[in-house]
Amino acid sequence: MIDLYALSQDDLHQLLKAWGYPAFRARQLWEWLYAKRVASFEAMHTLPSELRQRLQAECVLGRLSLAAEQSSADGTTKRLYRLADGQLIESVLMPYDDDRRTACISSQAGCAMGCVFCATGQMGFARQLSSAEIFEQAMLFARELEAQGERLSNVVLMGMGEPFHNYDNVLHAVRRLMSDLGIGARHITISTVGLVPQIRRFADEGLQVTLAISLHKANDEERSALLPVNKRWPLAELLDACRDYVAKTGRRISFEWAAINGQNDSPEEAHKLGALLHGLLCHVNIIPLNPTGGYAGRPSDGRAIQRFINILAEYGVSATVRVRRGIDIDAGCGQLKAQIVRLDEVPTRSPAD
Ligand code: SAH
Ligand code: SF4
Repeated sequence: MIDLYALSQDDLHQLLKAWGYPAFRARQLWEWLYAKRVASFEAMHTLPSELRQRLQAECVLGRLSLAAEQSSADGTTKRLYRLADGQLIESVLMPYDDDRRTACISSQAGCAMGCVFCATGQMGFARQLSSAEIFEQAMLFARELEAQGERLSNVVLMGMGEPFHNYDNVLHAVRRLMSDLGIGARHITISTVGLVPQIRRFADEGLQVTLAISLHKANDEERSALLPVNKRWPLAELLDACRDYVAKTGRRISFEWAAINGQNDSPEEAHKLGALLHGLLCHVNIIPLNPTGGYAGRPSDGRAIQRFINILAEYGVSATVRVRRGIDIDAGCGQLKAQIVRLDEVPTRSPAD
């Protein structure tokens, strides 16, 4: 079976041409897929019925199969997908009051980076996702939102996996989010744990996509203990790459800071971070730690975070705290781990609960 969601516009034209159809049929099919975003071939009623039947017989709309879904009291939806080879991945949809609809998607099954507080890191690496598997996670949310008269507006690569450890597939998928789903580059964020060569490469892509870097600690010894990748690319090299990125692209970098009670929320730590980032075009997103099974840390309290933000301001570094989403269904940052569950075992909570 041919996965239509894995085909470029050009591939689709070639396929219909090989089947003996004129180019306008390929254009119609493309519109059904990406402008109208229908979920079945039957719905494509401007196509001749024999073409619809052939599509039905030889093609599929994507290869992800939904294994489970959970809804949070705050409107966040978390999905577990089974891939063709049985691997499991998760993606999350977060609606915001201002009409933003943000999909948080995975780039790998598991992750090889081993950050100690991250549920995905705790499970280890299974395999890379193909660009089609990455793209389809966003496509499926976009399709369902469309059916409700809504629009997928933002995509963040902050689900399972390290996007820059799967660089080519991620970049290909990101380009398709822009061209096929019409999501503006500024509404896409790639988050990396700090792979320096890929940050440098990304600076040359000429994309307006937001780059987020997971920092979490402002000195090497302690950062290495939390994020083992820091031993390979310590802070000085990372910050050099960040400065070069800003110089080359003129774009602001987002730094992610998982605020952990008593670990990285002290005034001293804030001064260290302020000194490290002083003068760099950047913003710090503070995310209170989402507790995971394999790590004993707790989230910082609001007062410590406010004090931290105030100290950063003294260095001219802007920072905001991010509201945690989907906590009741473990859909928050770093909580995705694709457990094997049966649909009827999943406790589903509706927003009304
Ligand atoms: N691998 C990439 C993107 C996926 S993780 C990266 O590490 O940047 C997305 C974000 O969630 C990262 O900033 C990561 O550090 C953060 N994160 C991981 N586990 C977390 C946890 N338990 N609580 C809060 N944030 C967490
Ligand atoms: Fe991988 Fe990011 Fe989790 Fe680290 S925080 S283990 S890089 S997914």
